[in-house]
Amino acid sequence: MTTNYIFITGGVVSSLGKGIVAGSLAAILEARGLLVTIIKLDPYINVDPGTISPTQHGEVFVTGDGAETDLDLGHYERFIRTRMGRRNNCTTGRIYADVLHKERRGDYQGATVQVIPHITNAIKEQITEGGVGYGVVLVEIGGTVGDIESLPFLEAIRQMAVDLDRAHTMYIHLTLVPYLAVAGEVKTKPTQHSVKELLSIGIQPDVLICRSTFSVPVNECRKIARFCNVAEKAVISLKDVDSIYKIPGMLKSQGLDDYICKHFNLHVPEADLGEWEQVVYEEANPCGELHVGMVGKYVALPDAYKSVIEALKHAGLKNRVTVHIDLIDSQDIESRGIDRLKDLDAILIPGGFGCRGIHGKLLTVQYARENQVPYLGICLGMQLAVIEFARNVVHMADANSTEFSPACQYPVVALITEWHDSQGNIIQRTEQSNLGGTMRLGSQQCQLTHHSLAHNLYGSKMIIERHRHRYEINKNFLKQIKEAGLRVTGHSGDNQLVEIIEIPSHPWFLACQFHPEFTSTPRDGHPLFIGFIQAAFRYQKNFKK
Ligand code: GLN
Repeated sequence: MTTNYIFITGGVVSSLGKGIVAGSLAAILEARGLLVTIIKLDPYINVDPGTISPTQHGEVFVTGDGAETDLDLGHYERFIRTRMGRRNNCTTGRIYADVLHKERRGDYQGATVQVIPHITNAIKEQITEGGVGYGVVLVEIGGTVGDIESLPFLEAIRQMAVDLDRAHTMYIHLTLVPYLAVAGEVKTKPTQHSVKELLSIGIQPDVLICRSTFSVPVNECRKIARFCNVAEKAVISLKDVDSIYKIPGMLKSQGLDDYICKHFNLHVPEADLGEWEQVVYEEANPCGELHVGMVGKYVALPDAYKSVIEALKHAGLKNRVTVHIDLIDSQDIESRGIDRLKDLDAILIPGGFGCRGIHGKLLTVQYARENQVPYLGICLGMQLAVIEFARNVVHMADANSTEFSPACQYPVVALITEWHDSQGNIIQRTEQSNLGGTMRLGSQQCQLTHHSLAHNLYGSKMIIERHRHRYEINKNFLKQIKEAGLRVTGHSGDNQLVEIIEIPSHPWFLACQFHPEFTSTPRDGHPLFIGFIQAAFRYQKNFKK
């Protein structure tokens, strides 16, 4: 099979939404029956984003194969059916780490190791390996053209047109066309400059996608086409929209997919975007609205919770309600009390690391549990639900996680290596795994208990969900906790670890050790989020009024 490559670069400013455009375009090509994948190349030096604070770069998206990746991979999985993996994201740091490893091993046999060809070759290998078996590979280059750090990536993609043949490569450049209100005009000059910058490194874009607050007038598109040496029909106007799920339709209506198929000489059927039209329809025609409070500590940058926010919105679509998400700083709950929670229809505590804001989150869980407010806890949100229950219901006053209090009396959450039996012996898991001091990452099996809320929602006994955490519920304290009314309704495949807990006496209280948000899509939603939003709607109708 011939693989065709579409390289997507960005110019003028950052944050133009390259990831969303790449995902939307891939969605149309997939709807034309093409086998599509997307690769994100990130110019920063970190080996992967797993170590970057979520407030700097947004959430770390975890793939099924356990890679910690850029949040754009989340957009890709929400737009296309192809699943992402470690091959779909690569940073400068990763490339250099691999090249340096080979250099130390003597693989280069005495050659001087240089950016060109060694680094650029490694980048090209990453792209071609990630694209094996696909008809069209979209490659998104992070950053903005003109950045020093993205130069090796741009050089590598420039070379690919020479290596592969121009007929199998295409360059799409995403730019900003600003509207100057005082002059009442849109301005094309920044786009011209950005293309000039690309040309100076040897890349002539085939398509320009112009982001703007309004539709770019035809005359301005013509002007851009002429100055930038691009076909008129390849200048696409992409105005700001209220829903990202409108973008596939907007690109198709301007013939972008036809232009691409013609360029690659692909004879494939028209795209049927019915599923996307349905998503847009559901979004535009809600029958109600509700407020979900998300209590976390990375609230300064909502992108830190991107997949959770999207999953809540998807669940809103499936229930035909608009979900408003109140991002609440857990430290505000600590300083100002729980008043802020009183008008909410449901409460969610997402994943997180470290001590800051833990007390506020525990007050939040207690409020939700005692006041019958629907509660969904994710990862840390489950660990805290168990700690809160142990403290306030089982009266283990010093119950905690060893992440926050290593010497606590009741380590109800701890690293596996810290679990002790009543004689003080360390309990070891028999099965070999990467637990204990390292992250448990990626897709793992979970068995659900019959007739539990989780089982009813998923409709099957065995599920697969993605993990990213170090600590686990300590089984040695479970007996007392269960006797006091907390039910474990999901266990790991080997039955050793707690994956889901519920409080059956509460209208809807469920928490999971895994991250369901990573597998929610606008077309299908996710059973836990759908059930949670249904419960919020019930709570709004029955309890609040
Ligand atoms: N800090 C907790 C752990 O490492 C929870 C992690 C998370 O919420 N992703 O287990």
